[in-house]
Amino acid sequence: MSLNIELLKKTCEIAGVPGYEERIRNLVIREVEPLVDSLEVDNMGSVIALKKGSNNPDGKRVMVAAHMDEIGFIVTHIDDNGFLRFHTLGGFDPKTLTAQRVVVHGKKDLVGVMGSKPIHVMTAEERTKNPKITDYFIDLGMKGEEVKEIVRIGDVVTRERAMIEMGNCVNCKSIDNRVSVFILIETLRRLEKVPYDVYGVFTVQEEVGLRGANVAAHSINPDFGIGLDTTIAFDLPGAQPHEKITSLGEGTAIKVMDASAICDYRMVDFMKKMADQHQIKWQLEVLTAGGTDTAGVQRMGKQGAIAGAISVPTRHLHQVIEMADKDDIESSIRLLEACLENMDQYDWMHW
Ligand SMILES: [Zn+2]
Repeated sequence: MSLNIELLKKTCEIAGVPGYEERIRNLVIREVEPLVDSLEVDNMGSVIALKKGSNNPDGKRVMVAAHMDEIGFIVTHIDDNGFLRFHTLGGFDPKTLTAQRVVVHGKKDLVGVMGSKPIHVMTAEERTKNPKITDYFIDLGMKGEEVKEIVRIGDVVTRERAMIEMGNCVNCKSIDNRVSVFILIETLRRLEKVPYDVYGVFTVQEEVGLRGANVAAHSINPDFGIGLDTTIAFDLPGAQPHEKITSLGEGTAIKVMDASAICDYRMVDFMKKMADQHQIKWQLEVLTAGGTDTAGVQRMGKQGAIAGAISVPTRHLHQVIEMADKDDIESSIRLLEACLENMDQYDWMHW
């Protein structure tokens, strides 16, 4: 099956920083509503789509979470010359901001650039130092009065980068985590009968601490959980074999753990079996830093959930040129579909 690249491109390019997910949420609602039995938006803004189970006398619930938000910025100050200061929403590596274009979402969208001190006027000492977030300002190329008419304190800012195809890969801002939003939409489209009730949840505010997933899991109270997110692929020059975490093109990644959650070994085992049975290429992921919605899904229901996660190996994570392999994306859709359609085919009560 070939990927719907047009939908993936739209999904990645659209703006939506933590707390301001309205544009991506509207896209998700439009795509998902026709595919499910019911759809609602909770008070925090997460989209909860339900596909009813066909063999479910015990009312088992499976929650699948993909965060909609992307890392971005919020305006903290506008100076008289029209330059903006900002705070980050989510984790950035400051050196990756140099000379990047951004979009400031004021009364209308304005393109800006991340400015900093040119190397020509740096002291010898300054040249040896890594930049800090506070070294940057946003230059809109407009006069102070003009800027103040359109931009206010608290307006949000996103990275500006169109999606392109390179080799067998896609490259864009916000592959983290729009690729998983896309995977969840496409899985809901392909799903045939599911035994248990499947709650496809498109969460808010993950990048600032799994906030939307926590609330949604508390209300859904799932028995089973699957997180969907990107993970590090450090399969690059200079990396030692033990530092790679995952590699592009080596298949979807079955998470064993990250810093926020130790996946249930039964879920890990079930995912491996499903992948093998369906001839889906997979690799294992052990990530010792970084958290995902998996933690919220696992722990915020009343009795906890049997939880695991499917990750998309991604290079250059949290930069403006995040990159994933199209075959790994397809493998992730196929593994999620296989898991959801066969959830009742595993002895979950064995310890
Ligand atoms: Zn993410």
